[in-house]
Amino acid sequence: MQRTSILHSTGYTEQENLALARGQRTNPRETMVVLPRFLQPFLTWVTGMPFAGQRQIIRWTPWTLVLCTVCEIALGVVVGAAALSHSVMLAICLLPVSWILTTGGIRMFFVVIEHTCTHHIFSRTRWVNEAVAEIISVVFWTQHYAAFKSEHATHHRVTRMAADPDTHFLNEWGFAAGMPKEAVIRKILATLVSPKYHIVTFLERLKYSISGARIKKLASPLFVIGMVFVVYQLDILMYWLILWILPVTILFQCSMLLNILTEHRWPQDAAKRDLQEVCYGRFCGEPTPDTDGLPFHSRALLWGKWWFRLVFIFLPYRLFVLVGDEPHHDFHHRQPNSDWANASYARHEALARSRTDKYGEYTDEWGSLLDHIYASSSPRNIHAT
Ligand SMILES: [Zn+2]
Ligand SMILES: [Zn+2]
Repeated sequence: MQRTSILHSTGYTEQENLALARGQRTNPRETMVVLPRFLQPFLTWVTGMPFAGQRQIIRWTPWTLVLCTVCEIALGVVVGAAALSHSVMLAICLLPVSWILTTGGIRMFFVVIEHTCTHHIFSRTRWVNEAVAEIISVVFWTQHYAAFKSEHATHHRVTRMAADPDTHFLNEWGFAAGMPKEAVIRKILATLVSPKYHIVTFLERLKYSISGARIKKLASPLFVIGMVFVVYQLDILMYWLILWILPVTILFQCSMLLNILTEHRWPQDAAKRDLQEVCYGRFCGEPTPDTDGLPFHSRALLWGKWWFRLVFIFLPYRLFVLVGDEPHHDFHHRQPNSDWANASYARHEALARSRTDKYGEYTDEWGSLLDHIYASSSPRNIHAT
């Protein structure tokens, strides 16, 4: 974890900084066990890591995750519609919530559900995997089953090496191994607002969406025509553009860039496959403050800041970029057939037996999106948690 995330904050006394430093010496997730028991499942989901010995209350299946994701998208649209129907101030406050939920749900369908379909681990039935992937491709304008499967198989074989399609994507938009962190941040900001990036990436997605299986070539245009017809009939053009088109195009592509960039570390040697070097767990959060012996106002300040950062930094990151089992992408590379729907617990249980497998030792990086941008552009460092 990047130590800058807390210790460089201002406004703390020396005693409070010492308290924070003490808390950081341990696994951030283990420091959260001081919070009430009913919050622990939520904290496990946000951070991506259970505490030692935690029992899973709900075991997810692929279809319950699909249902949950549909609800997430519906909630995003409803929140957005409510915001637009009332005051400008409400719209300013709630539209970001709407966009985060809707975009996160759409990304979940592509990054997690369609991804597992290409591995044939969404369903045991081959045609179900293919059908679900093609439906996602039609509805959300994403890569079709065959293209995703082929490119992703290459990604697994040569992760972050020169032939990896993700490496091509990053190189195409100006990212490369060894870039100074400041240059990475500047390049991210420039790319996120670049019309060229969004137009080129969207046209690529659209090309895939209207190709593939024969029935899909028919289904894709029909879906678009049907959607436009409904929008016209209900006279909801402005709602459609703001609450659906924006998330499914520009915001989807913002999340995509941030996810691909932080999913792996750049290797020191682009010609050598080294999963231990390029893979790491992306965990979302920071240690709770150690407030022992501090006066009430200091405790309140530290806990207030901790909750503020959880709600306004870590939670949006988890919903918008780090969707589904993305914190455990390293585990997926090492064990592609593992229980992806319950990956937090599956990885945690596997690492409780041994933190090392045939590829080497697992590494964890804790923090925010910024911490993971820095981690992905830095050499491997051991953070055993
Ligand atoms: Zn995969
Ligand atoms: Zn990967």
